[in-house]
Amino acid sequence: MSTMRTDVVVVGGGIAGMVAANRAAELGRKVLLLERGAEPKYLCNSRYTGGTFHVCMDDIMAGHDKLLALIERMTGGFARPDLMESIARDAERSVRWLQQQGIRFIKASAAAHQGWVVAPPGRTRPGLEWEGRSGDVMLRTLEAAFLARCGQVLRGTRAMALQMQGDRCIGVRAQQATGEISISADAVVLADGGFQGNPELMAAHITAAPEKIRQRGAGTGLGDGLRMAQEVGAALVGLDRFYGHLLSIDALHNDQLWPYPYPDAVATAAIVVGPDGKRFADEGMGGVYLANAIAKLPDALSAVIILDDAVWQGPGKNGLVPANPHLPNVGGTFHTAGDLATLAAKAGLPADAVTATVASYNAAFAAGQLAGLTPTRTADRYKPMSLLKAPFHALPVCAGITNTMGGVAIDGDARVLRADGGPIEGLYAAGATSGGLEGGASVGYVGGLVKGAVFGLRAAEHLAAKVTA
Ligand SMILES: Cc1cc2nc3c(=O)[nH]c(=O)nc-3n(C[C@H](O)[C@H](O)[C@H](O)COP(=O)(O)OP(=O)(O)OC[C@H]3O[C@@H](n4cnc5c(N)ncnc54)[C@H](O)[C@@H]3O)c2cc1C
Repeated sequence: MSTMRTDVVVVGGGIAGMVAANRAAELGRKVLLLERGAEPKYLCNSRYTGGTFHVCMDDIMAGHDKLLALIERMTGGFARPDLMESIARDAERSVRWLQQQGIRFIKASAAAHQGWVVAPPGRTRPGLEWEGRSGDVMLRTLEAAFLARCGQVLRGTRAMALQMQGDRCIGVRAQQATGEISISADAVVLADGGFQGNPELMAAHITAAPEKIRQRGAGTGLGDGLRMAQEVGAALVGLDRFYGHLLSIDALHNDQLWPYPYPDAVATAAIVVGPDGKRFADEGMGGVYLANAIAKLPDALSAVIILDDAVWQGPGKNGLVPANPHLPNVGGTFHTAGDLATLAAKAGLPADAVTATVASYNAAFAAGQLAGLTPTRTADRYKPMSLLKAPFHALPVCAGITNTMGGVAIDGDARVLRADGGPIEGLYAAGATSGGLEGGASVGYVGGLVKGAVFGLRAAEHLAAKVTA
């Protein structure tokens, strides 16, 4: 086994790892970044990302108080107060710091959350296209800045275990094609991107049938950081929730249907039913919430959006890659009929149940009683619509997972915590590896990029104050 010595080891070269590595190097520390991917443009969610820096799908520059209120509302009491405070305080600073590294932002649309999108933004067409776009340019810019600061990147290097001395983390063991390497360090930052790419962990925490969930990212998060941290006594939090979207059921075999278009805007204006023709979740909580509910169904491939033509011609056309017309155009199953009974038959659903479900939804809508439905229907986040205008449509969907929300418990400085709440000295976690901010009963989504950037910065700043240059 070969050995190395450095001040700081960062595990993973996505946004969280690259920000942590750069900031620690900027603060004068000797930093080694380990990346499992062997290619110069190794794949990860940060490479695929749409590049929108938002907080809870709102303006990242809204200021501390508004951001804190947004996160509190979105996460419904789940998020740790210190993590919410870190995001509220440092969201803007993280964007400004990225600008200083040479990353350019543009306003992609008039929507509040799209004021700060990494340039050049993704193309507005179906399927995956990342090369030369936001995330790819962002990572290459950060890697160049890191190398200019004398940072070292070891690609093709998979961190496997943490090294401890008593209660303190003193390094990491990693696997390379040529053998094992042992790296001693004063601090380790875990930033390996979550566990969505690990079928066993997915089956344990997210869904009974991982093969029925479409990866809508790189799938490179294998849960190594989670396992390594757990082995040395870290607490884990909120593993049952993920960030993702609804996708056409055909996304499982048709690459034109992921990561875009996603029909969330259609589902949140209409209703989603299971194989019994009945609603099973509160559509008004949003597409991320619905994707989680679908993943937990006895059959995760049994959900169908039922909508009318007013929804299809309205919200169906919302967004940068709208479901209308892209989803049917690129091969997504889309049933249409002049009446609900015929539509249900085409979609393989019980006609009586679908007709009754739509009727009771329409009656509750007309009476202003959507909250009284079972399951209830929230109406203050996404605007519900009545379902009256023929033709009617049915859109079979599956859950698309981007990254897990839960993970290693951290504090506001990204220090990894034990079950007793105390920190493990020398050990930090940032980005999708970490938990405690997003998830909970409301499946609160704060933002993958802001989470990675803020806790990457904070990890580096905390450890730099401890590690002597
Ligand atoms: C299509 C798409 C669009 C998105 N759009 C947005 C958006 O507009 N706004 C937003 O906020 N979020 C968006 N997201 C989510 C966001 O991109 C992610 O939450 C974020 O990039 C996660 O960053 P990360 O650094 O935690 O993980 P990653 O970017 O996944 O990086 C983790 C890295 O760790 C490496 N690794 C894994 N295991 C090991 C190991 N054992 N040793 C060494 N290295 C390891 C992986 O290879 C990977 O390179 C999007 C995601 C996708 C896929």
